[in-house]
Amino acid sequence: MDNIVIKKELLKMLGKEKVLTEDLDLMYYSYDSSFLTKLEPSNPYAVVIPRSTEDLQKVMRFAYENNINIIPRGAGTGETGGCIAVKGGIVLDLSNWDEIIEIDASNMQVILRPGVIHAELNKELAKYNLFFPPDPGSSLMCTVGGMVANNASGLRAVKYGCTEQYILGLEVVLPNGDIITTGGIKAKCIKNVSGLNLTKLMIGSEGVLGIVSKIRLRCWPKPKARGIAMAVFDDLDQAPAAVLDIYQAGILPSGIEILDSSAIQAVNQFKPEINLPDAEAILLFEVDGNPPSVEYEGNVIKEVVGKRARNVEWATDPKRMAELWEGRSVTATAAARVRPGASRVFAGEDISVPLAKVADTLRAIRALGDKYGIKVVNYGHIGDGNVHTAPVINPEDPAEIEQVLKLVHDIHLLAIEMEGSTTGEHGVGAVRRQYARLEHGNAVDIMEGIKKVFDDKGIMNPGKLF
Ligand SMILES: Cc1cc2nc3c(=O)[nH]c(=O)nc-3n(C[C@H](O)[C@H](O)[C@H](O)COP(=O)(O)OP(=O)(O)OC[C@H]3O[C@@H](n4cnc5c(N)ncnc54)[C@H](O)[C@@H]3O)c2cc1C
Repeated sequence: MDNIVIKKELLKMLGKEKVLTEDLDLMYYSYDSSFLTKLEPSNPYAVVIPRSTEDLQKVMRFAYENNINIIPRGAGTGETGGCIAVKGGIVLDLSNWDEIIEIDASNMQVILRPGVIHAELNKELAKYNLFFPPDPGSSLMCTVGGMVANNASGLRAVKYGCTEQYILGLEVVLPNGDIITTGGIKAKCIKNVSGLNLTKLMIGSEGVLGIVSKIRLRCWPKPKARGIAMAVFDDLDQAPAAVLDIYQAGILPSGIEILDSSAIQAVNQFKPEINLPDAEAILLFEVDGNPPSVEYEGNVIKEVVGKRARNVEWATDPKRMAELWEGRSVTATAAARVRPGASRVFAGEDISVPLAKVADTLRAIRALGDKYGIKVVNYGHIGDGNVHTAPVINPEDPAEIEQVLKLVHDIHLLAIEMEGSTTGEHGVGAVRRQYARLEHGNAVDIMEGIKKVFDDKGIMNPGKLF
């Protein structure tokens, strides 16, 4: 169907409050936070802003009958081009559909629409002393629907896991307009092992199977106390070894972060007043729970990590904790400023490797940066081996772009070689699908078969995942 006819039909169906067709509006939907979509933006034919399941059903039926691609979008904070119409189509902007339908505190769960912002949800849950633990760095912007689609997590995943651990059930609008409810049509229970687990199948499916239109998720009691330890290491290898010691001492911190020497230098250059100690690595351990257990765990960390580190400082005073954490909280911004006039590139930014290989991986990334003549800043969630890599280049220089794309490719291959994954958090989208076979072998055939069951015409977010 011709683009002009598609726009006319959508306007007739839903009215101009819910349909965007002007080039300027469409341009806004041509990229997300990934480097690739900044290099190659792609306008959709039209954008629909649904406000109800019925709106969604109408669009899906129209798209299905006319073989038009459908691309769901939350807040567009994704780093992989996942919400971009790379093969043309209609983008569904779900970010305005942001109703919290019910906080069922007595059953420790909440039912909401996909456009609710993560931080807003936690603000509401805090009134009941509850929280939804996954904590992406984009919490103030990203939608819970986008988190479900990408199985998002954050620095506290080491203790609290990813989004998948909390989703109890979903309403999904399928490409042909049918609606299914996963996790039990009427269920309000927390524990449920009946049937094939379609909820898990939808989580992390990056919009290639259907549209998540309603989410039932589990909340947890909010911990009452927190403490932070900062440990400084002269030898990079001692850092992962100290993490292992902590696990073996029976402690599971709520966050364990690493800054390697590149990140330490970047932070000190960006904000000299933070004045991080010059070292090969700094680890930050965060523990949470009840005050006596936090104090106990802090003492163990001091003693155990102190055997490997040059220095360990433990704090529970909020002001001192904020000071210790400040270096980590500005790392991403600091990385972007290490070279005047240059920018941090969001590509190859979140590989995941086994804990025992973190130090080797960091050294190998440093060597790759030298090979391609690119400054790279490394930090990340060492507790679960999720390394964040920040290459810094002049994005206006085609030669530097060519080099950084080679570097990023090598980083992805390195992750697989290290028995890890090309992505620990941000997903595959359009930018990492070329590694699907390398990572998953013939399991990709089964994934493609599953997609066909949901999406026989291949109109759901094509060009993503595999
Ligand atoms: C500064 C910054 C920090 C970040 N930190 C983290 C982090 O710590 N951890 C982490 O995991 N990620 C992080 N991200 C990446 C990103 O924020 C997450 O992946 C987030 O979950 C994406 O949500 P979104 O609403 O922006 O989704 P979008 O980017 O709009 O979409 C992401 C994917 O989900 C699909 N999708 C969106 N909504 C739906 C729906 N309702 N139904 C079906 N499919 C849907 C899209 O098609 C796309 O494939 C960060 C991003 C930025 C910019």
